[in-house]
Amino acid sequence: MRNRDYPGTCCDRCFKKSMAYIMSMYNTQWICMDCKDKEQKREDYQQAVDRDVAEYMQRVEAARGR
Ligand SMILES: [Zn+2]
Repeated sequence: MRNRDYPGTCCDRCFKKSMAYIMSMYNTQWICMDCKDKEQKREDYQQAVDRDVAEYMQRVEAARGR
C-alpha cells in the first residue's frame, strides 16, 4: 500500500506539477487545483461529498465508542 499521507511531486490524475494538491472526493488520489475544478463540476460531485462526510461521521462515532 502506498503512503497516502503526503502528495507526490505531481498530480495523480493529470501528472502535471502544481503548487498545491488536494485529495479527490472520489478516491485517494492527490490532484491539482485544475483537476479539482473539473471534479467539482461533475453532476455527482455533491453525492461524493455527502458520502465522504457520512464516512467521516461514522469514524468519529466509532472513535467515541458508540
Ligand atoms: Zn491535475
